[in-house]
Amino acid sequence: MKDLTLKSVTKLFSEKRNIIFIPHSSPDADALGSCLALYHFFNQENEVNIISPNEYTEILNFLPGSENILNYETDKEKCENIFNKGNVIFTLDFNSLSRARNLSSLISKSSATTIMIDHHENPNNYADITISNSRMSSTCEMVYDFICSIDKSKIDNKIATCIYTGIVADTGSFRFPSTTSKTLKVGSELINHGVNVTEIFEKLHNNFQFKRLKLLGSAINNFKKIEGLPVVYTSITENDQKVNDFKKGDSEGFVNFGLSVADILCSVLFIEKKDEGLIKISFRSKGDFKVNIFASKYFNGGGHEYASGGISKLSLQETEEKFIIDIKKYIKENYE
Ligand code: 5GP
Ligand code: MN
Repeated sequence: MKDLTLKSVTKLFSEKRNIIFIPHSSPDADALGSCLALYHFFNQENEVNIISPNEYTEILNFLPGSENILNYETDKEKCENIFNKGNVIFTLDFNSLSRARNLSSLISKSSATTIMIDHHENPNNYADITISNSRMSSTCEMVYDFICSIDKSKIDNKIATCIYTGIVADTGSFRFPSTTSKTLKVGSELINHGVNVTEIFEKLHNNFQFKRLKLLGSAINNFKKIEGLPVVYTSITENDQKVNDFKKGDSEGFVNFGLSVADILCSVLFIEKKDEGLIKISFRSKGDFKVNIFASKYFNGGGHEYASGGISKLSLQETEEKFIIDIKKYIKENYE
C-alpha cells in the first residue's frame, strides 16, 4: 500500500466504523475469501456485514464465517437497512460497479467511504480509495498485504484459511502465470497459521454431487475444434442443466479442459441462461493468446489476460456462429 493510502486507511479506522464488504455478483472463492478475511479482521472493533449481490456456490460454505453472508436478492430490506447505516464500503475482487449488478446504484448513492481492493486491469474511478494491482495473483493476496500493513498480529487460522482459499482458487493451486515467488511466500506464511492445505483442496475440488460429474461428461463431449485454429469451444444447454440438477458453481473449471489439448491456446464455454435471457461465456487461454480484449470487444465482457468472461443476448446457436466469425477475425488481425 502506498504511504498516503495507508495514512488515509489508518485514519479512517481510528474510530469504530460500520463496514460493508461487497464481492462481485456470483462471487467466487477469491471474492468471498477477501470479504470474509476482512470481516474477521475488522470484526472486533467495528460493526461488520457482508452483502453479496446474489447467490453463490454452496461449495464455498466451508469458509469460516460464511453463514453471515447476506444475499441482497433474497434479503433486500435487511441489506438496504445495513446500507443506510454503513460508513465504509469495501468492494472486493471487481473494479467496475456494473459487476456488483443490482448493488451498484446503492454503492454509488451511498455517502460511505468506498475502498476498492482488486487485481483486474483498467480499474474504474468510483472508489474514494483505490488499491488496484493487476500483477497480483488474487484479491486475497492483496488483502493479505493490506492486513499486514495494518496489524499482521491479528492474522489467525480463520483469516488465513479465507485468504489461502482465494489464492489457491485464483492461481489454479499456484500454477497460473500470475503466481510469483511472493505469492508462494504468502502461501507459506498462511500455512504457518495452521491452514489445512489438503482439506481446502478437497472442499474446493472434490465435494460435488454425482450429477455434476455427468454434466462435466456432457460438456467434454460437446467440445468442438475450429479447423485450422488453436481454439476449442463447448456449451452447456438449459436442458443439460435440467437433466443434471445444475447448481451455481457446477461448471466452474470445465472450460480449462479445452486447454489440456496439445497446441490449443484458447478454450471457450457457453452456458445458456434462459432465466436471464443471455448466454454466459467463459474464455481461457495461454501462451501468446490473450482473451480479455477479445471478450470486451466482441462479447461485452473483460477480465484477465488469460481468464475472461462475457455475455451474449443471441441464442446459443447464433452466439456460437458469431463467435467463430469473430475469433477468426481477431486472430487474423492480431496473430497472423
Ligand atoms: P468466469 O469465466 O470464471 O466466469 O470469469 C473469469 C474472469 O473473467 C473473472 O474472474 C472476471 O475477471 C472476468 N469476467 C467474467 N464475467 C465477466 C463479465 O461479464 N464482464 C467482465 N468485465 N468481466 C468478466
Ligand atoms: Mn480474483
